[in-house]
Amino acid sequence: MTHVVVVGGGIAGLAAAHEAVGRGATVTLVEKDERVGGKLRTSPFAGRLVDDGADAFLLRVPWANDLCREVGIEGELVHPAARDAYVWSRDALRPMPPQLMGVPTDLDALEDSGLVSPAGVEAARRDLTAPATPLTGDEAIAAAIGRRLGDEVVERLVDPLVGGINAGDTRELSLAAVVPQLDAALRDPDHPSLIEACRARTSSGSSDPPPVFASPVGGMGRLAEAVGAGLGPADVRTGRSVVAIEPRVTGWTVHLSDGTVVEADGVVLAAAARANAELLGVVPGGTEASTLLAAVEHTSVAIVVFAFPLNHIGRPLDRSGFLVPRVEGTALTACSWSSTKWAHLGPGWGDGTAVVRASAGRHGDQAALELDDHELTARLLQDLEVTMAVTGAPSEVRVNRWPSSFPQYAPGHLERVDAIERALPERMGLAGAALRGVGVPACIRSGREAAARAMR
Ligand SMILES: Cc1cc2nc3c(=O)[nH]c(=O)nc-3n(C[C@H](O)[C@H](O)[C@H](O)COP(=O)(O)OP(=O)(O)OC[C@H]3O[C@@H](n4cnc5c(N)ncnc54)[C@H](O)[C@@H]3O)c2cc1C
Repeated sequence: MTHVVVVGGGIAGLAAAHEAVGRGATVTLVEKDERVGGKLRTSPFAGRLVDDGADAFLLRVPWANDLCREVGIEGELVHPAARDAYVWSRDALRPMPPQLMGVPTDLDALEDSGLVSPAGVEAARRDLTAPATPLTGDEAIAAAIGRRLGDEVVERLVDPLVGGINAGDTRELSLAAVVPQLDAALRDPDHPSLIEACRARTSSGSSDPPPVFASPVGGMGRLAEAVGAGLGPADVRTGRSVVAIEPRVTGWTVHLSDGTVVEADGVVLAAAARANAELLGVVPGGTEASTLLAAVEHTSVAIVVFAFPLNHIGRPLDRSGFLVPRVEGTALTACSWSSTKWAHLGPGWGDGTAVVRASAGRHGDQAALELDDHELTARLLQDLEVTMAVTGAPSEVRVNRWPSSFPQYAPGHLERVDAIERALPERMGLAGAALRGVGVPACIRSGREAAARAMR
């Protein structure tokens, strides 16, 4: 029987282990922390179960939903109760107009929102009549979209949304790797206008479109727990890391930090990118893949969760939350109104408490993360006072720091990943957020594909 060692028990590693077990392998999964799940972690907060990291997964792609079904938790999935969001722009929370990855599809709604100035709306309108501007190769998102819509729409809509999902700077992120939908829209031969191409991609014709996101009602940690529990006889070793991997005649010898050794036919590297690159760097034939992987930059974020008495918030929490453009200069980059977004965190409790998750830190803007927990909390509270009229102290606070958590896909990233995969040694798979998507579904897919490769 084939034996596979999976390094790292985040969702990519768990998905790899699940796939390998499904293909008939015996599996050893090694996770440095005391628990599996990585960035999927849910903890008790204000009497509820609140996510410390990721809080939902996308349903437009099948991989996360399929895994939930396979591990028997499809029936536990819930969808956000509030879909729409605001943007803090020009001194007010402005309703986000209909859009595709930040490209507005209704310019009257953009104008009514006041999100950008009248000159910013006019710049965007010119896209409707301007000749096509064909892409040559991969480009930075801000440059490619800015050419069509002007800088203001990029700074106040595209960057907060796309940059927010990736904790990145759209002036430095790859169009093809980060927003393939917009890359395709800009290459659409039937629509020289980007706005028209995006409209064609978003008009479902349905007045009740299907939900876009889901999460287990017990939080995203429940997904990790269920995949871990479903591994059956797999050997899950937490609280220790893989420190070296050596080739043997038909596979690998894997060395753990506790001094034990595991013999494997195949290995999946699903630890953080830097750890994967270090392990690859000392494997014969792994140097090229290691060097290419180590060059993917990462950025850090923090999520500070606040509970407030509802009557300490001077405005209705009537959407899922809001984004804050970089140009506003706040420490706050986004705020999720979790007790509005998720019915199970909100009104049902009847305790008059609002739970909000405030984010800080993005690529090129890490100053807030240098503050200690107390200072960071105070800075974010100041921003919440201005943006959502919070008064008084929170009843509970939790600071979650996620260092080097978001890979930054620079232009040319997809070619880099192709080259990494070509350079991988035989019977070794590589998985995780640094490759073909930071979202949970993409990480699941990469884990499953890496397991198949490790077993070839
Ligand atoms: C704050 C935040 C919010 C997010 N929100 C969302 C969201 O709402 N929706 C969404 O789809 N995505 C979201 N993401 C992105 C998504 O959660 C991550 O990209 C994804 O979970 C990464 O999974 P992974 O398995 O690649 O890495 P990780 O979760 O980082 O797992 C890697 C694991 O490897 C372990 N490890 C490291 N070195 C070793 C070693 N040498 N030996 C053994 N183990 C090792 C680590 O301890 C870790 O557990 C969010 C990310 C963050 C940080």
